[in-house]
Amino acid sequence: MPRVSFKTDLCKGCSLCVDVCPKHILRLSPDKLNAKGHAPAEVIDQDKCIGCAFCATMCPDCVITVEK
Ligand code: SF4
Ligand code: SF4
Repeated sequence: MPRVSFKTDLCKGCSLCVDVCPKHILRLSPDKLNAKGHAPAEVIDQDKCIGCAFCATMCPDCVITVEK
């Protein structure tokens, strides 16, 4: 099962990963802020991840790791 993880404190909340995910399982946190003061990206339904890594490729700050 693929797993997606985030170096949360590096996220700038740009939403590029959210927009590119074909399974629509990423969002910006509605209730958390990271060390930079941004709402960080998070995964809402890990089990639906297909491991395409579009999110990791798109992220300009190398926040996301996808393990297959
Ligand atoms: S690896 Fe693909 S399916 Fe999984 S969270 Fe990233 S963009 Fe979405
Ligand atoms: S693309 Fe990267 S910096 Fe932008 S919201 Fe997603 S994880 Fe954060």
